[in-house]
Amino acid sequence: MRALTYEGPARVRVRHKPDPRIEHPQDAILRVTCAAICGSDLHLLHGLVPDTRIGSTFGHEIVGVVEDVGSQADGVAKGDRLMVPFNISCGGCYYCERGLTACCENTNPSSDIACGVYGYSHTTGGYDGGQAEYVRVPFAAIGPMKVPDDMSDEEVIALTDALPTGYQGAEMCNLSGGETVVVFGAGPVGLFAMKSAWLLGAGRVIAVDKVGYRLDFARRWAGVETMDFEAVDVITAVKDLTEGRGADACIDAVGLEAAGSPMQRAAGVYAKTVAGSATALNWCFHAARKGGTVSVVGVYGPPYNLVDFGTAMNKCQTIRTGQCSVRRYMPQLLEHVREGRIDARALITHRYPLDEASEAYHTFAQKKDGCIKPVLLPHGRTLH
Ligand SMILES: [Zn+2]
Ligand SMILES: [Zn+2]
Repeated sequence: MRALTYEGPARVRVRHKPDPRIEHPQDAILRVTCAAICGSDLHLLHGLVPDTRIGSTFGHEIVGVVEDVGSQADGVAKGDRLMVPFNISCGGCYYCERGLTACCENTNPSSDIACGVYGYSHTTGGYDGGQAEYVRVPFAAIGPMKVPDDMSDEEVIALTDALPTGYQGAEMCNLSGGETVVVFGAGPVGLFAMKSAWLLGAGRVIAVDKVGYRLDFARRWAGVETMDFEAVDVITAVKDLTEGRGADACIDAVGLEAAGSPMQRAAGVYAKTVAGSATALNWCFHAARKGGTVSVVGVYGPPYNLVDFGTAMNKCQTIRTGQCSVRRYMPQLLEHVREGRIDARALITHRYPLDEASEAYHTFAQKKDGCIKPVLLPHGRTLH
């Protein structure tokens, strides 16, 4: 089959690899019809995720049709169209039984930190991802959900990661109504966090970014106020809007490649002497009020960052974090999409055949051409 492969920092290409096959009776093999590229794939591309091996295939946002199925993937049949959560979960362990599928202890047993994730380095199990013609889906009856026939791949692809992750970011703010929420990062996860903050009762939502077209999109699509952190001092500006106190909640939808501090970029992104740049997270601590909440869905890697923890501690803040347990949000968010409360498809700005994956990555990474979310269509455009 054709598959995207990692060739070293800043380099991906598409080449032939062996077709995946059933390795366990609960596996399925999907013919990938739509695979999105995620902001967190750029962390892999840029060499910021430990143990990202040459030749591995990225892609954890996957919709596809079952091509082959193991004997114990009960309820999954050839021809089913599935949307696949980025986390691989067994369904039966201590965490899965509690809905924390992102903490599954069986799909990446060599780590006590992260569960198995498609196409996300050997730190998360070394599973090949779905930016390919085919992908192996372990525990196919557990994580994936069937896509309703009346919904397109592009309407549901965000349910595999970006939408539930953004939603969880807002949910972790524990809003009771009327709060001011600042969302750092106006990429897909940040945009979905903004929309979710409204749905969960926020009284005011402010987006912070430096990319003009993304701030424009946030104003238009999510109906939020916006702040360009290159044009204003963001902490002062948030305090000016909140009687000097700071926001009730701040959401970090940026993670470890944050801009905004040349020192953090130099140490964390270029020299890699610490695990990325924690600028957005530090801004959250400073922009949230005392007793406020900081909710982190941006991706950080081990082992440590230059995090301003003393500020958070002294301001009595609540810190909520987590990789999203996608599966538990899928059913309710599917209804939000189906009912039109969240237009997830609107975020898809670019569509590429698989063979143009490298160009897709570079357009996305360099934020060219108004790119918000690119998707790969490994088998061309389908009826869906
Ligand atoms: Zn993702
Ligand atoms: Zn489990």
